[in-house]
Amino acid sequence: MRATMMDYPLTLTHYLERAGTLLRDSEIVTRLPDKSLHRYLYGDFHRRARRLASALARAGLKRGDPVATMMWNNYPHEECYFGVPCAGGVLHTLNFRLHPNDIAYIANHAGDRFVIVDDVLLPLFEKVRPEIAPERVFVVALSGAPVPEGYESYEDLLATGDPDDDLPTPDERDACGVCYTSGTTGRPKGVVYSHRAIVLHTMAMCMTEPFGMSQHDSVMPVVPMFHANGWGLPFAAAAAGARIVLPGPHLDPVSLLDLCEAVQVTFAAGVPTIWNGILQALDAEPERWSLDLRFRTAVGGSAASEAMIRGFDRHGIRTIHAWGMTEMTPLGTAALLKATMQGLDEDAAYGYRAKQGTALPFVDMRLMNDAGIVPWDGETMGEVQVRGPWIAAAYHDSGELGDKWTDDGWLRTGDVATIDAEGYMKITDRTKDLIKSGGEWISSVDLENALMGHPSVSEAAVIAARHEKWDERPLAVIVLKDGAEADADALQSHLAAGFAKWWLPDDYVFVDEIPRTSTGKFLKSALRERFEGLLVEGSGGG
Ligand code: ADP
Repeated sequence: MRATMMDYPLTLTHYLERAGTLLRDSEIVTRLPDKSLHRYLYGDFHRRARRLASALARAGLKRGDPVATMMWNNYPHEECYFGVPCAGGVLHTLNFRLHPNDIAYIANHAGDRFVIVDDVLLPLFEKVRPEIAPERVFVVALSGAPVPEGYESYEDLLATGDPDDDLPTPDERDACGVCYTSGTTGRPKGVVYSHRAIVLHTMAMCMTEPFGMSQHDSVMPVVPMFHANGWGLPFAAAAAGARIVLPGPHLDPVSLLDLCEAVQVTFAAGVPTIWNGILQALDAEPERWSLDLRFRTAVGGSAASEAMIRGFDRHGIRTIHAWGMTEMTPLGTAALLKATMQGLDEDAAYGYRAKQGTALPFVDMRLMNDAGIVPWDGETMGEVQVRGPWIAAAYHDSGELGDKWTDDGWLRTGDVATIDAEGYMKITDRTKDLIKSGGEWISSVDLENALMGHPSVSEAAVIAARHEKWDERPLAVIVLKDGAEADADALQSHLAAGFAKWWLPDDYVFVDEIPRTSTGKFLKSALRERFEGLLVEGSGGG
């Protein structure tokens, strides 16, 4: 028998048209640089995104041409998320927190023809502009100031388009977006997404599990829209018809909480650093904000500690721990309790929720170590390998494929994990951060999570320090909470309750802050440079 279904293309154009018809009364709220709120409906968004698509086509954009954005999370960025792909272009979201040299490298490597930039980011863009050669640069005037000379205005660009122009019909396998990895090892590498990958990823995100987004939600991506497609939220929220809440440049805890209260956010997503700050603000003033009772968050990018998940539960906010990467569009797993686990005792339940979780539909996952495929016993560690329809099969224009893909077609994530009998994956490290003590692996992430469970500790990073006898030993770098006190002995006894003796750090260093990457993760390479010699006699460190 042969299937009798239509071969209907899975493209973002469908979601855009749906936004303009069935969902036209849903809202998009943006916090502008002056902190006022800009609000409009999907109906307006749809017309403007179509205008943008038409204007880009009239300006000569060809199928597959990249259009870069250097923008905060705001409504014109949401317009670009749909307008560029629906014109047949490829949305290239530039990470403006990178060094200007890296931004220039990325823009040149992608071959960006047009750039759309927020006026408040122009001082940054000016540092990159001499190194790149876009044909045209359009400025989004969000701060109210006129567009400076030498630039064109985004609004003028829109005025040249006609929302009623026919849109091209992309092939579902056409490129629609590109994100570069942050390049912590080697040069940044481009991951090029297809319409089909984004559409399938969007559908999976909107399922009741993991995130169950709907028109009844107010969805706030705190994660920047330049970071791995804003974790897919600008697409998924629009497909679901949720109110989309974009915080602009105001990412401090109080501003975010004020916004959550003002528009009754029900779902937000960001890295643990952001949530740590928010939790401390809530702990300090538990009665200050009146938040929606359905409020839940997706936390990922680096590990969310059990202490944080418990902390938010105390405020009635449910944390969903999730894992993914740029190469995975990005979502791979989420930690929700299975129906059969509802009766678990509290500690066991938190144990599962603090893991990175189970694979989404269409994400195949396996662990490999030197001995081959690792059993799902919750103990044996191996490298996580994945495959699926929204997982990269190569990098853009990269000579160095290296060993990122296995011979049988799986992506090597560079993460080391265990998977338990229920299928819950738990990251223990990135391969490059593992601590190898006397040939045995010690998980820096487990130690960090436990340390961050100590009431005096705000942040903890555990790194491999060189050791004469054991090659490497764990060294803990600690940031204490404001006004809190705890010394190495106190932290060591805190850990001793839960870990084998040989896992305990050999030393503790107290610092004011832990350096971060452009996406808010601990920059362990910088800590290693500074402290890795600390345990070796005579080599100082510091
Ligand atoms: P970068 O390489 O710039 O950090 P990504 O943002 O794509 O790029 O990061 C992906 C990596 O982030 C994963 O491979 C993993 O190491 C880490 N990561 C993501 N989510 C989690 C999580 N929930 N827990 C621990 N690590 C995570």
